[in-house]
Amino acid sequence: MKKTIKDVNWAGKKAVMRCDFNVPLKEGCITDDTRITASLPSIKYLLENGAAIVLMSHLGRPKGKPNHDYTLAPVAARLSEYLGQEVKFVPSDVVVDDTVRAAAAALGAGEVMLIENVRYRAEEEKNDPEFSRELSELGDIFVQDAFGTSHRAHASTTGIADYIPAVSGFLIEKELKFLGQAVEDPVRPFAAIMGGAKVKDKIPVITNLLDKVDTLLIGGGMAYTFFKAQGYSIGKSLLDEEGLDLALDILKLAEEKGVKFLLPVDVVCADEFANDSPYDTYPVTAIPEDRMGLDIGAETIKLYCKALEESKTIVWNGPMGVFEMENFAVGTKAIAECLAGLDATTVIGGGDSAAAVTQFGLADKMTHISTGGGASMEFLEGRVLPGIAIIEDL
Ligand code: ADP
Ligand code: MG
Repeated sequence: MKKTIKDVNWAGKKAVMRCDFNVPLKEGCITDDTRITASLPSIKYLLENGAAIVLMSHLGRPKGKPNHDYTLAPVAARLSEYLGQEVKFVPSDVVVDDTVRAAAAALGAGEVMLIENVRYRAEEEKNDPEFSRELSELGDIFVQDAFGTSHRAHASTTGIADYIPAVSGFLIEKELKFLGQAVEDPVRPFAAIMGGAKVKDKIPVITNLLDKVDTLLIGGGMAYTFFKAQGYSIGKSLLDEEGLDLALDILKLAEEKGVKFLLPVDVVCADEFANDSPYDTYPVTAIPEDRMGLDIGAETIKLYCKALEESKTIVWNGPMGVFEMENFAVGTKAIAECLAGLDATTVIGGGDSAAAVTQFGLADKMTHISTGGGASMEFLEGRVLPGIAIIEDL
């Protein structure tokens, strides 16, 4: 168990808190503030418990140089609105200077300020000890609440903890609870659904999960590499050449480990990679030479839903088809609806899978949707995330 902000007596203490305020901007305006609202519970808890807070985040890729297109100024304004109190924005092209240090020193209990985009400094992504120390000196305790960057060892996510104690905020606590418990101590039967485009990208995840799951269901573009490896013709479907041998290894490993390994039995194939292309459903043994598989078929949906209904914990990573096109979103939507209706722990990891579930309006029907695309992937691979490792143990 990792320490959280609830394990600290905040009276008279100053938190240096790393958030993920990497919000989408259009002409300087925030187009989606989900990441800002997500940070509010931790911020409010700290303020209500007598802390002062120095907030920090990255935004976009200013490439280690000051670039005012990526200023956090709009974030401070939006945060002030939500909190109903001023979030002082103290900008500096070098992120930390004497003005910033003075503002942090003057900050009283219940007050909050935001410093400029930490990626204005090249030292951030280099996890430079000097920059880490500069950040640490702004407060007493480091609060890590940016899951999306916790797989990167940067000054504001990892290095800072060399100088002051680190605890997690509520967002990280939630990720560790659901993602962590699903992978380490799942209520069984435990099923994983793997989809998306490439086998190669997901190999480490599949390999790690094969040690843990009872059932593994494969969908999406990666299924065709498995079919090809088994000797079927896949027409113009996506093939990950480099993944062919790996696919065979996985099939063998699944058998050795006694994991129930399900591949689609039918697929929806179109002439072209386009929503308006004509399409039909075929058994996987009869994919036409001139067509490409873009979704799982109705029989597969039935088979998969049945397997999922028997499961108590389900982790889903990667869509079942090209869900961005309406005609080929059917399989992904059916699986999402199936999960939404189950009395099981359902965890969604992966940027596109999370986007799909949100697009279908089913996000709040899932137990947990991980906020970190790359970070949740590395977590499912069983890797130690540097930004999590530095959080003190309870
Ligand atoms: P995640 O972000 O959830 O980890 P991935 O990035 O691995 O998922 O994969 C998502 C992409 O896979 C989507 O853009 C989707 O269109 C694509 N995809 C799914 N099925 C197919 C398919 N049959 N052919 C080509 N691309 C596919
Ligand atoms: Mg993706």
